Amino acid sequence: MSDRTPCPACGGDPLPGALAYQHRTSCRIYAADTATIAADHERRSGVRPPTNAEREILRHERYVEPEGDLDLAIRFSHVGGVHRRRPVLVDGTGREVADAEREVDDE
Ligand SMILES: [Zn+2]
Repeated sequence: MSDRTPCPACGGDPLPGALAYQHRTSCRIYAADTATIAADHERRSGVRPPTNAEREILRHERYVEPEGDLDLAIRFSHVGGVHRRRPVLVDGTGREVADAEREVDDE
């Protein structure tokens, strides 16, 4: 998406794919994400709560914080060396109910 902005921690350019940036190796979000990706690799796929670093990025990318029992979560898969993440909404039991949405500016 063309409206994405650089990483809030290191200024690295956004890459295709949700939450992906060309981080500098000194970036604190990069450091946190490296551990997250390793953990996702172990579990292969699923839905889990966002890490603190991911929550920071979700706010930065203006994902809408849901109301009521819903919460933001991350659907992840790490298969064949490819790590993918998609922000989703889960209900109070952790069940995925929808894709997360970003705020949009009215023209
Ligand atoms: Zn960064």
